[in-house]
Amino acid sequence: MIPLGGCGEVGMNMTVYRHREEMVLVDVGLMFPDEEMLGVDVVLADISFLREQGRELQAIFLTHGHEDHIGALVYLLRDLPKVPIYGTAMTLGLVKAKLRELGLLQAAELRQVEPRDRVVAGRFEVEYLQVTHSILGGCSLAITCPAGTVIHTGDFKIDPHPVDGRLFDTERFRAYGDQGVLALCSDSTNAENPGRTLSEREVGKALDEAFGEAGGLIVVATFASHIQRVQQIVEVADAHHRKVVVMGRSMERNVEIALELGLLHIPQGMRVMPARMGEYHRERLVVITTGSQGEPLSALSRLAVGDHRYLSIEPGDTVILSSKAIPGNERSVSRVINHLLRRGARVVHGKVSEIHVSGHAAQEELAEMYRLVRPRYFIPVHGELRHLVAHRDLILSLGHPAKDIAVVEDGAVVELSPRGLRLGDEVAHGRTFVDGKGVGEVGDVVLRDRRLLAEDGTLVIVVGIDHATGEVVQGPDIISRGFVYEDESQELLEEIKQVVVDLLPTLDKEILAERALVAVRIRNKVRRYLDRKMGRRPMVLPMVLE
Ligand SMILES: [Zn+2]
Repeated sequence: MIPLGGCGEVGMNMTVYRHREEMVLVDVGLMFPDEEMLGVDVVLADISFLREQGRELQAIFLTHGHEDHIGALVYLLRDLPKVPIYGTAMTLGLVKAKLRELGLLQAAELRQVEPRDRVVAGRFEVEYLQVTHSILGGCSLAITCPAGTVIHTGDFKIDPHPVDGRLFDTERFRAYGDQGVLALCSDSTNAENPGRTLSEREVGKALDEAFGEAGGLIVVATFASHIQRVQQIVEVADAHHRKVVVMGRSMERNVEIALELGLLHIPQGMRVMPARMGEYHRERLVVITTGSQGEPLSALSRLAVGDHRYLSIEPGDTVILSSKAIPGNERSVSRVINHLLRRGARVVHGKVSEIHVSGHAAQEELAEMYRLVRPRYFIPVHGELRHLVAHRDLILSLGHPAKDIAVVEDGAVVELSPRGLRLGDEVAHGRTFVDGKGVGEVGDVVLRDRRLLAEDGTLVIVVGIDHATGEVVQGPDIISRGFVYEDESQELLEEIKQVVVDLLPTLDKEILAERALVAVRIRNKVRRYLDRKMGRRPMVLPMVLE
């Protein structure tokens, strides 16, 4: 078992299982950057190991459709040999939509499976086991090869009352436990949380309460992939005689996929298109959108600063953040909440109500998984080291011998055999940063590896602005590396400065108050300018000071 990503961080989950000269890959996820990773849109795991050993790869198995499990596929597909990619209907629906957008659909061999299906890939046999999670179609994998069976849980919780009625497959997990399981690799995301994670149904009750107290327009922001949540919002809206508006590109796309697959039900005549919202009374509408993580370009962030095409927030409206801020996003979320409050909206979020529940198992559920599977070896996965260690401590407390547990991080090689567990030499691992998913650039994703950086270079723009007036109070100063020699191209650098100086006064006051939004505008403007003028695409890193 070789984790290439997801052991030591939350995100970019990617695990190799190898038996002699054959291997299968489980999940190809990405990670979203920290706030301090300026100019980086996406973080991927280093796949040098897969590139070198590519001929051994038999198949790719996707556990579910969250970005941290499938998101890197579009970036890495070209570097991997063309092997079958397996997943359930919803998972592949999401994968297909992304591949189609980038014109890569032909490059992938997608094969749909149902829970309890078994797939043979070389000397591996893999069975999909249904679990409950914050996305439809989530599964664990039972991976069997001549050395034994590994249960790779993927993300899961054990929700006895899932919204879609598809239950956690206790029976199959227990059956594997009865047969004997060599190793359990289990989700550690919530291993620090005691007790059980609340059922998704609890959110329905909280939504119902919040809707009952709402007077004006209701906006609910949640994760675009959380179709069960969308279903609950639709049902509660229906009960309160409101129509729904689905807003935001990724939310609209995922809703279409789920409707097409028959996994989401919106009653006839209940959906209103964003462009026609004006024809309805505000108090008869619910807007379902993304942006619950404070993403600066999302519909919710635009609403918060009065920068949306079809809609503005008015006093008396209710905005519900049906999600929890992912670590690293707290400040952005907080800013969005403050902007909304300033506009007179009532804001309901996780800190004040049960308006969100997690999709990951807490300690009692993790113990339940362990007892069902009764593995010989235990390896905590999916989490930062602190989560992996908390999970280990939990399993130790259940009486598992310490020598049969391996807490490992990316690049480790865990050799599992009936004779024992041992660590081999590490393989290449690390992170790759991707830049180029800004507004208006969809479909033009550029993998910025060192080679490309060397060709197009980097441009750092430092500018201090007075956020009340948009006036430049310092700079702009431009530092170029590998793009042009500064002393030879004074003229060009002056032009870039002028582009920035001209742009700032045209921006809205509320946008000027958001450094991230200003940076995005500067970046897009300068990039377009350089692309048009010289056909070059340097990495542009604006740093906005106040
Ligand atoms: Zn997930």
